[in-house]
Parts: sequence; structure tokens; C-alpha cells
Amino acid sequence: MKRTEINELGEFGIIKRINSKFENVHKSTVLGIGDDAAITSSDKELILISSDMLIEGVHFDLSYTPLIHLGYKLVVINLSDIFSMNCYPNQILINLAISNKFSIEAIDEIYKGIKYACDDYNIDLIGGDTTSSMSGLVMSCTVIGYGHKKQISYRDKAKVDDIICVSGDLGRAFLGLLILQREKSKYLDEPKNQPDLSKYKKLVEKQLRPEARKDIIDYFKSYKIVPNSMIDISDGLSSDLLHISNSSDLGFKIFEEKLPIELDTYSVSRELNIDYLEAVLNGGEEYELLFSIPVDKFDSLNLDNIDITPIGHFTKNKKRSIVQKNGKEIELNSKGWKHF
Ligand code: ADP
Ligand code: MG
Repeated sequence: MKRTEINELGEFGIIKRINSKFENVHKSTVLGIGDDAAITSSDKELILISSDMLIEGVHFDLSYTPLIHLGYKLVVINLSDIFSMNCYPNQILINLAISNKFSIEAIDEIYKGIKYACDDYNIDLIGGDTTSSMSGLVMSCTVIGYGHKKQISYRDKAKVDDIICVSGDLGRAFLGLLILQREKSKYLDEPKNQPDLSKYKKLVEKQLRPEARKDIIDYFKSYKIVPNSMIDISDGLSSDLLHISNSSDLGFKIFEEKLPIELDTYSVSRELNIDYLEAVLNGGEEYELLFSIPVDKFDSLNLDNIDITPIGHFTKNKKRSIVQKNGKEIELNSKGWKHF
């Protein structure tokens, strides 16, 4: 592959190159890349802002992470934070600190992923910053979303007897990471062995190229439902459910037998010699939505064509528990499953 050095283009050349590939579509985008600041506007809606960083060596390992996926993931994990407020993101800003081990073509790959995500989710790239780094790749994204006051779901508004639901299934992102790490160390021991990941495709995909659950927000909209509480699962079901529980000052009871788990989550957990519940309860980076809605609203939903699973309910008493398949009830604390 051709390699163009970063200093051949320079900072402004890079920005120009990025800008040439993006086009703005939202009415709320008044001014995009080019001036000292971008401008957005909103008539009646509230403005939601969030940002997230990805750091080489902390959040990703370039030996098994394609740059295009990294760009995609950076955007998606940020969008997820706006969807989890039951609102829609319109704009992003991207900050990049990049060392000269990267070429212009490498930056192109990152932005290709960013562009895919912007196209998939209808997002305008309206700015950012580009600077050099002495220690690996640092990327951050800021996302701006919009929503009416009554449409927003918070962490602290769960109500007693609300049904707790989760989108998708749990555990695969974490197992995907373990597989990638295992294959990396096998490769380092014996570079002749090229890893064969085909058996783990769905797990690895969920880790490297997650999606944000815009479809769930569309679904709520079609039913005119605003979840009483919602969060996206970035740290693991236990931890994120405890966030809602703490913020809303309620206990909960969830049921192991109700947890949405795919077959490969069981089989690969067995292969890796770990408890599948560790992956399901504590596995991070799922970017699924965890939310609660009142029983009558839940009953009005048609769940045929959407992967939403009820897993339990919030309670007035402050006990936070999971009921195991054998009927035994165990406390779920911040250390998660380890206590049972
Ligand atoms: P300043 O020096 O005033 O901060 P810059 O030269 O850094 O301005 O940025 C010029 C324009 O390019 C701004 O609109 C900024 O938001 C945008 N920009 C800079 N870096 C990036 C990037 N990595 N991705 C998207 N937009 C960027
Ligand atoms: Mg700048």
C-alpha cells in the first residue's frame, strides 16, 4: 500500500482532505468545518451533548483492530449515548492525536470508518482538532443530539414495578475481545499460525464493529413510548443496571433464565473456561440499551419484530438481586456475579 507521510500534507492539508469527503445534511447544522467554531441551532428542542475517548493501549489494540472499524466504533459509541437518552444525534466533532508512525492513508482509513458511521446514522461531521501525539493514537468524539423535553429518558426516573428490558443479547462483545487477545498471543508465540476467526465471527464483529441501537429509539417513537429510565450498556449489565438503581433509588429483581444469551456465548465461554454469566453480566462494550417501562405500556408492545427482552422489574425495597435458574436469589452488587 502507498504510504504518504503526514508532513507531506500538513495539518491544514489533512483537514481539507477530511472535509472534502463529508457533506452536511441536517437543518440544525448552520456551519460545519472551516471556521474557528461550528454552529448548530435548535428551535424548540433541547440540545444533548456527550463525548467519549478511545486511547491506544487502553481501549484498543492496533495489532488486531482495523483502523476503519476503529473510526466506525468511535462514532457509534458516542451516538449510543444520545440514543440512550431517547433522542437523536445530528452532529459530531472528532479530535485526533496521531503520531508519525501513521501515514495519510492510515488517517484515510479511520475517516472511512467515520464516514460509514455518519452515512449509516445520518450524522454531520462539523469539526474537531488534529494534532500530533508522542504516544500512540488518541481519538475523541463529541456528539450533539436533539430532543423535546418530554421525550428524554434519564437514569434517575425508573419507577417501582417498571419492567426492566434489554435490547439484543449480552456477552458477545466481551467474548470477542477475549478471543482476539487469545489469538494475538498465539500468533506472537508462533507467527506462522495465522488466526482463523471465522468460527467467532459474530463475537469479534460485536467487539470490533458494534452498532448503536437507533432502531430501538425508532421503535419507541412508533409506539409513542418514552422509557421511564434508560442507559446504554458500556460497562456491563450489572454495573449499568446498578447505575439506574442508584440514581432512581430503587431495588430490582432480574431473572437469569430471562437473560438474552446467544448459543455461541455459551459455547465460547465453555471453550475459554469462563462462567458465561461473567460475560453476560459483566461484559462491557455491548452498546445495547437497558431501559424500564411501566407494565401497561410493556403489555401494549408488539415484540415480534424487535429484539427486546424483559429481564425483571424494579422494586420499592432496595434489594438488588438476580434469581438463578435453580430459584435461588442472590444479591447483585457492583462486583457483579462473582459472589455467587
Ligand atoms: P483552530 O486552529 O482555530 O483550532 P483548526 O485549524 O484546528 O482551527 O481547524 C480548522 C477547522 O477544521 C475547524 O472547523 C475544525 O473544527 C476542523 N477540524 C480540525 N481537525 C478536524 C478533524 N480531525 N476532524 C474534523 N474537523 C476538524
Ligand atoms: Mg484547532
